[in-house]
Amino acid sequence: MSALPAADALEALPTQPLTILQEVFGYTAFRGQQQAIVDHVTAGHDALVLMPTGGGKSLCYQIPAIARHRAGKGVTVVVSPLIALMHDQVGALEEVGVHAAFLNSTLSLEDTQRIEREMMAGRMVMLYAAPERVTNLRFQAQLASLHERGLLSLFAIDEAHCVSQWGHDFREDYLQLNLLHERFPDVPRLALTATADDQTRADMIERLQLQDARVFISSFDRPNIRYALVEKDEPRKQLLRFIQDEHDGDAGIVYCQSRKKVEETAAWLNEQGISALPYHAGLDAAVRKKHQDRFLREDGLVMVATIAFGMGIDKPDVRFVAHLDLPKNIEAYYQETGRAGRDGASADAWLTYGLADVVNQRRMIDESPANDDFKRVQRGKLDALLAMAEAHDCRRVRLLAYFGEPSEPCGNCDNCLNPPATWDGTEAARKMLSCIYRFWQHGQQRFGAGHLIDVLRGKQTDKVQQYGHQSLSTFGVGAELSENQWRAVLRQLVALGHVVAEGEYNTLALTDSARAVLKGEVNLTLREAAETPRRGRASKTGKPGAGKAASAPADLTGDALARFAELRTWRAGVAREHNLPAYIVFNDATLADMARIAPQSLGELAGISGVGAKKLQAYGDQILAVLNP
Ligand code: ADP
Ligand code: ZN
Repeated sequence: MSALPAADALEALPTQPLTILQEVFGYTAFRGQQQAIVDHVTAGHDALVLMPTGGGKSLCYQIPAIARHRAGKGVTVVVSPLIALMHDQVGALEEVGVHAAFLNSTLSLEDTQRIEREMMAGRMVMLYAAPERVTNLRFQAQLASLHERGLLSLFAIDEAHCVSQWGHDFREDYLQLNLLHERFPDVPRLALTATADDQTRADMIERLQLQDARVFISSFDRPNIRYALVEKDEPRKQLLRFIQDEHDGDAGIVYCQSRKKVEETAAWLNEQGISALPYHAGLDAAVRKKHQDRFLREDGLVMVATIAFGMGIDKPDVRFVAHLDLPKNIEAYYQETGRAGRDGASADAWLTYGLADVVNQRRMIDESPANDDFKRVQRGKLDALLAMAEAHDCRRVRLLAYFGEPSEPCGNCDNCLNPPATWDGTEAARKMLSCIYRFWQHGQQRFGAGHLIDVLRGKQTDKVQQYGHQSLSTFGVGAELSENQWRAVLRQLVALGHVVAEGEYNTLALTDSARAVLKGEVNLTLREAAETPRRGRASKTGKPGAGKAASAPADLTGDALARFAELRTWRAGVAREHNLPAYIVFNDATLADMARIAPQSLGELAGISGVGAKKLQAYGDQILAVLNP
């Protein structure tokens, strides 16, 4: 912990938000709505902040916390769901010279008592704690004591969507947080999240009693992320090609649905020469922590994980997020893919999906123990994701529309870059639906996709003989389409909700909405199936950094590139010494600026974005020595 300035010295420090941004964090200007939010909260008002991942939410509470502390208002309590990340969050603040600490179960009794003493004295600027701690009796009594003495400055509630049961990260403990408002109604509160469809938003406001809070909604666009959703066809190989062709040596996250698949995929990637680590809730806590730490601290690792991994991970240089299974809904997809490219440099969100994914997700909802209302909402959310997956137009327009934001085609998604071929699938769909209908009419039986397609294509199989299906009027009516094409038709019919797959064998049945299609009342424009899988698409065309060593900014060359490499080595040493991820010492963008500009003096170094007063003092001479050997 850093030495603390005496109370009178504290009060002499500037309290202007912009000055704090510049001096403490070394940034020149606020981004987007940061200024408005910071001013509103510093003045003591409540706020709900909806900002995409990477938008810069942390500064929205850190700067008010610093300004209010300097004005003698005491401690800001930051509620954060993940204790595993508090160490690094606090480390980042200590690096810029802001006195912060965390309280959680990993601390020794001695450390806990020391931190509590500092908190009770109001010396600390920010205290991070998990919701279950914030609401426990002992801590509530401490807050009451602080409050009585005018030293309880602000509550910041991070990942506030965890309070909503509609969301995907629901945490029971978050429900108790309205207690803060009830006990301390005059202490301002700031709730922040990157997840916010209308329903979750309304839920957050109600449950956290934020009816009077000002709501700040930023654009949810992440223009540097390129979205691509491809048809599943030997998914492991597709993944390997994607990583090898486009992200060799980059850090990335691969999401899978099951623990088993996580383990198998990670092992397989390692066999293929890609360093990958598994992460899921079934692993020992110590192993999980080790893998998370390695992912944060080392360069170029691939994390293969279930959705247990990711919340609060603010590693800025994750260059891709790949999904081998379909997420539950658009919020989950957007949150997971949002972990790519927080540093603003180009990044990929890549997903491979097929018929089985659609069927599985539908089944998971049907078979869940939830009540009908909940299921109805979940089905609606899945449908929105499927519509996006099957879309022929801009993915981003659809994603943003889901969050209520109108936009124009983006030019940076698969559909914009390579508009998919479409065709009028009305006739084909009618043939398929009517074949499913005939099965039922013929023998009151249901069949799966394989047999259905065989019958449509007129294949004489044992099963066809056995059931006498060669006599059906739909036998052989679909010979003009390949098996692959029929699978694509079926996937889209399931995605559109005209067909359901049920039971152990995924047998197919029509839904009510199929009737209109059968009658020819609805026209269906379908995506053309990728007939032969595209092998290694022309690698990284137009992408900065193509073919370069991992994560070196694209425009660095010659001497600057050499300086960047030296700076990275130096940074790795400091990071190890401080037991922090390298990007907390300085992020790549700051390091690249140093390499490019090669400052000769502390004054020049101070002008670089990301170099605040404390870091200048702590590291300035060392950096100048690295740059000017
Ligand atoms: P979020 O929590 O919204 O995902 P962060 O608070 O982690 O985003 O910020 C993302 C990145 O942007 C961080 O590296 C942060 O330091 C940087 N950043 C945020 N605000 C600014 C700013 N005004 N100027 C420069 N960099 C900023
Ligand atoms: Zn687009």
